[in-house]
Amino acid sequence: MKMILFGAPGSGKGTQAARLEKRLSVPAISTGNILRAAIKNGEEMGLKAKAYVDAGQLVPDAVIIGIIKERLAKPDCENGFILDGFPRNIPQAEALEAQGVEIDKVLNIEVSDEEIERRLTGRRVCQRCEAPYHIADNPPKSEGVCDVCGGALIRRDDDSPETVRGRLRVFHESTEPLKGWYERKGKLVTVVARESVSDTSAAVLAALGLGAT
Ligand code: ADP
Ligand code: ZN
Repeated sequence: MKMILFGAPGSGKGTQAARLEKRLSVPAISTGNILRAAIKNGEEMGLKAKAYVDAGQLVPDAVIIGIIKERLAKPDCENGFILDGFPRNIPQAEALEAQGVEIDKVLNIEVSDEEIERRLTGRRVCQRCEAPYHIADNPPKSEGVCDVCGGALIRRDDDSPETVRGRLRVFHESTEPLKGWYERKGKLVTVVARESVSDTSAAVLAALGLGAT
């Protein structure tokens, strides 16, 4: 299964990607996580990307396309993968095609802008392993501590209200046109996000024809 998880920032792509990764036994690849790791480790690519990420702008296509090309060449991608956060505009989708990658399905998670603003202000991520949480919708078992690795939960710099509005603008302008692009190829499957993570997961599995867990 080669799939793309598609949705606005804060639509819950990362949460669903983590669940699908276990269910499908293929790696979830998040360009956002790769960029944040490169920034944290002071890699050259991270230094180039940091200003864009902090401002909620798209990192230049050449950088992102290079990251994806390298990642998809690794042996764990042989049986499939779940892309989370890529492609984010039509040139990136065209680059994926040009690399000969055949995507099976694009799962589109629909959420309103108001709901996204509410979610992002409450979002927390593990500083160590990037596991996503929400203070109300998907709280960790112990406050401020990652269930997976015990790391500290933090609020991302780009989850500030002004940056969130900017990220939504970028989404509507640059990323949303991909819905029509993949729909015309007959690959788009749409799910409306539910209030709870588990209801959304169930809707996602049903939409993918995977049934209940
Ligand atoms: P979200 O989906 O919540 O905005 P991500 O972790 O996917 O968060 O992305 C965070 C930031 O990383 C983006 O705002 C952007 O600056 C950068 N980024 C991630 N993926 C891409 C991409 N495919 N193209 C360009 N920039 C990207
Ligand atoms: Zn963790």
